[in-house]
Order: sequence, then structure tokens, then C-alpha cells
Amino acid sequence: MFIQKLYFYNKCFINLNFNFKSVSKQSAIKLCYDARTSLSDIPIELFMNSAPFSSLSLRPELLSSTKALGYESMTPVQEQTLPHLLSGKDLIAQARTGSGKTAAFAIGLINKLEAQSYFTQALVLCPTRELADQVAAEIRRLASTIPNIKLLTLCGGKPMGPQLASLQRDPHIVVGTPGRILKHLEKETLHLEAIETLVLDEADRMLDMGFYDDIMQIISMTADSKQTLLFSATYPDGIKRISDSVQNNPVDIRVEASHHSPDINQVFFQVEKSERAKILFKVIAHYRPESSLVFCNTKQQCDELANELRQHDLHALALHGDLEQFERDQVLTQFAGKSSSILIATDVAARGLDVKELAAVINFELSHDPEIHIHRIGRTARAGSKGLAVSLFTDSELRRLQAIEEYQGSTATLTNTSILKVPEKLKLYPPMVTLFVNGGRKEKVRAGDLLGALTASGEIAGEQIGKITLFDKFAYVAIEQKVAKQSLTILADGKIKGKRFRVRLLR
Ligand code: AMP
Repeated sequence: MFIQKLYFYNKCFINLNFNFKSVSKQSAIKLCYDARTSLSDIPIELFMNSAPFSSLSLRPELLSSTKALGYESMTPVQEQTLPHLLSGKDLIAQARTGSGKTAAFAIGLINKLEAQSYFTQALVLCPTRELADQVAAEIRRLASTIPNIKLLTLCGGKPMGPQLASLQRDPHIVVGTPGRILKHLEKETLHLEAIETLVLDEADRMLDMGFYDDIMQIISMTADSKQTLLFSATYPDGIKRISDSVQNNPVDIRVEASHHSPDINQVFFQVEKSERAKILFKVIAHYRPESSLVFCNTKQQCDELANELRQHDLHALALHGDLEQFERDQVLTQFAGKSSSILIATDVAARGLDVKELAAVINFELSHDPEIHIHRIGRTARAGSKGLAVSLFTDSELRRLQAIEEYQGSTATLTNTSILKVPEKLKLYPPMVTLFVNGGRKEKVRAGDLLGALTASGEIAGEQIGKITLFDKFAYVAIEQKVAKQSLTILADGKIKGKRFRVRLLR
């Protein structure tokens, strides 16, 4: 018996996380209720941890991989969807990122995969390349115990050549973005007529991005008998249309966890329009989150704000739809490598962004839609850690605040900006910087080569080097601030794979 968490509303949260194996269910419950009595008047919600994966009829390889990944028991989304998924039913599920939805559909599609049959058996459509990469990684992890499974990611913004070469033999599983998948279908380099599972992940986002027609065309080229799983945070009309025309009597699952999670400390500040940027600076200086994602409603606002924060010596980067794929990769690499601690993004640009342990989400302005607000703040406090969500709003956004309160079923506690204290000697540099190396996979540069070159002389320790990200023509190396210049010299003066590369520091 395992009791994972004891949640209190009212921003008070206790994580018991005991292993109650040796304690009976009755005494475990009593313990939780005793805790409640000591904090009287607080409504309590007790979450018994859900069932283990072994309670499902899964193939043994999946039982081993979930165990190896440390997935002790199912998340609520998994517990509610997996029995239907495994019985072959179509499903429409509302689940946010961080809920374990990827593993839910991954387990569903892997469970019926035939490794000996070389045809494409499952297709997962995602809105962005980043999300497709994460989904592919989760499926690979879960399928790692089954030999010879071929999974391919097919996304736009990537050259066709290598994709065509990989498609010489049909993959078992394809994960990709609608535009590129359609291109391959038109070229007849991809065959989906026999797929058994079709997953539309973050379907509402795909519709927002204008993929409705592409999705419908892709679906028309797949088998009628397939199982269709539709995951979406919101249910706009387009989703209903897709579901009605494609799904067969789908099970509809809405998991409450898509609402405000008690793990998130939500703070609301009422501000004057003219002082919004100043207060944002104070918020960052006061809370000093190791990483924060600041949401703006427009691209222009993202750029202006990034410039303004940079004037305060804060390393902020803007992420929005006007960036080229190359610039977008660069911004995301810097943020993920901890070389920038503030990312300023629009909702569209932040889609698919998966940065683990995001310390804070800041709403520079409230979103028009309360569901988007919940989606935004759900990016902090993932996988059980606590998070901070700060929202700034002006008089003219009071209606939006009201909508959020109604949606989350609780009143927002407003905090006075006077609590925000800016330390006198403020140093908010990110711990790392990123080096850009103009050589990548095409030149056969591997992460080990870069690591080896940097540490060979013994001046720089392996621990001082962070994330190394390789692309076809270039590579990024995250490195501790204090050894940045040394690293730059070592890489620029030395050779890698017998070649000299240009190296520069990204600022
Ligand atoms: P997702 O909602 O798919 O983005 O998943 C969020 C994170 O939860 C991922 O890092 C998963 O690896 C992790 N995860 C998924 N299922 C479980 C589980 N049953 N127990 C623990 N972690 C999980």
C-alpha cells in the first residue's frame, strides 16, 4: 500500500510520499486524517496512489520497461485511459503535458505491436518537432525491451534525404508533424494503409496551427479499422468534427488534473500598465527562479521585453513564430542548457517545449482563455515537484482574472507588489554559457569528441560541461560561465576529427 500525496487546497501542500508497504490501508488513512485534524477547516483531498502497471494485461516487455523507468504506478490519466486503450476502443482524452499521457498512448500502441511484421503499425501526429522528438523518446524508452522495433520521426524543417533513406524499410512506428507526413504520403515513400493505431497528440494545437486539412487527408489514407486516440487539452469545434468523422463510439475521458494543481503556488499581482516590465524585473529579482518561462500575448511584446530585461543584465531570450528554425533551435538549446534562465514566449511558440524542472511560469499579461492559463502554469510543478506561477494583470484584465477564478473553482489571492524585494547587489547570471561550434553530425563530430577535446588538458573537468547538442552542421556545448573563455580557446585552437572548427560564445 503506497500513499503518494496528501493534497490540501489553500496553497498548503504536504507530500507524504511514504511507503506504507508495512502499514495497513486503514492505518494509512487514519494517519492522513490525523494530519487533517491538526490543520482544521481545510478541505482535504486524499489521493491514494493508483494501481500498478502489473494490474493490466500488458506484454511482459512493457512490464519490464515501465519498471526499469521507475514508473511504480499509473498516473490518473494512465489509470483512466489504459483499460480502454488496451481493449481496442477509440478514445478522446483531455490531458495536459506532465500528466503521463505520452506513456498512456505509447503503452497502448506498443502492446499490440508485432515486431516480426515489417509494416507501419502506428502513427503519432504531433504539432511540433520538439514534441515529436519527446514523444519518440518516450516510445523508444518504453519499447526498448522489445528487440528490432524501428521507430522513425518525420518532421518538417529537417532534410528529406535521410528520411527517404530510412524509409527504405517500413518502420513499425512513425512519429511526426502533419505537413511532412503528408509530403511522404504524396511521394508514396510512407505507407499507412495498414496502421492499427493512430494518435493525434495535442490535437487542438495542431488545429490552431492550421493542420486540419492535412490531418484529414492523412486520415483518409489510413485503414478504417484502426484505433484512433485523440489527446487534446481543449475541445474546440474542429476536434469534435475530427472525432465525429473519424472515431467510432469513442470513450471520452476528462481528467481533473488539467485544472489547477495544488503543487503550484499561484501569485497574482495587480499592476499599472506602464510599470508591467518593471514589476516583472522585480518578480524575477525577488523569487530568483533558476529557470522561468514568461508568457506574452504577442510576438512584438516578447522581443521588447527580452530587450528590456537584457538592459537590466538579465539573460532573457525571446521565442516566437517569426524565428527561423535555426534560431528557434538555438534559443531552445541555450535555455535547456541553462545558459539562459528566462525564456519569453508566445503560447504558439512554447508548444511542445519540454523543459524539465521549470522553476516558474510568469504571465506578463493574463491569457484571454482560462484554459490556456491553466495550460501555461501547468508547465511548472511537473512530475511531482513544486512550482511557482506568477501572473501580472491590469485593471483592464479583471474580466480575464474572473474567468480564471471561475474555471479553476477558487478565488485568486492577490498579493501586493510591495512584498517584492530587489537585493542591492543583484547577480542573476545563468550558471552556464553556450558555445557554438560550426561542425556537426555531417562532419562526424560526436558529443564524445567535444567532451574529449575540452577535458584533454585537464584544465576543465567533465562536470563543468553541460548539455552537448548536435545538429547536422553545427553543435552547441553548454559550459560553466567561469571556464567559458578557456573552453573557447581550447576548441578554437585545437582540432576535432582532424579538422579545425569555428567556435563562438552565444550571448
Ligand atoms: P507527459 O505527460 O507524457 O509529458 O509525461 C510527463 C513525465 O512523466 C514524463 O517525463 C514521463 O517519463 C513521466 N511519467 C509517465 N508516466 C509515469 C508514471 N506512471 N510514473 C512516473 N512517471 C511517469
